[in-house]
Amino acid sequence: MDALATRHWHALPDGRVQCDVCPRHCRLAEGQRGLCFVRAREDDAIVLTTWGRSSGYCVDPIEKKPLNHFLPGTPVLSFGTAGCNLACRFCQNWDISKSREVDTLADAASPEAIAAAAARLGCRSVAFTYNDPVIFLEYAIDTARACRAAGIHPVAVTAGYVCHEPRSHLFAAMAAANVDLKGFSQRF
Ligand code: SF4
Repeated sequence: MDALATRHWHALPDGRVQCDVCPRHCRLAEGQRGLCFVRAREDDAIVLTTWGRSSGYCVDPIEKKPLNHFLPGTPVLSFGTAGCNLACRFCQNWDISKSREVDTLADAASPEAIAAAAARLGCRSVAFTYNDPVIFLEYAIDTARACRAAGIHPVAVTAGYVCHEPRSHLFAAMAAANVDLKGFSQRF
């Protein structure tokens, strides 16, 4: 799968390109990757390197996301990619969120295939989880649209560490979201 061209970035006077997806504002020289590892500079632009690739699926109760007032008692297809824009020491999905082997770990998964898998498994919703959908927002949005077209509800599980414009695009595509609080201080 080729890397996907993205729009949330701008060129800097010093020749670097700044990613505008999250407040880390990674400033990349040609060939560099951001802290999330999945957004990279290629040909003077920022691309998403994990569009169409998943690190795994699981059918969970929706209460595990945890959402208690959204389609209660129903199964959700949990799905994630690789990488993360946070680096929490307590991460329970560190093998996914800090993976540096996305090319070998990830399975091909088109948005339509994910929606079809959810329907086939009797899931009413698909959750973007395990790692933060902020970093793969174009893939999450495309998958959310495919899910809605199939009558499946898209759910974001996120830390919400995202800039204003991409935030509005990501959450406009979702039917529900769980925004996790990861720490209690600015220093954290
Ligand atoms: S999304 Fe990734 S590349 Fe972009 S600013 Fe955040 S950590 Fe850096």
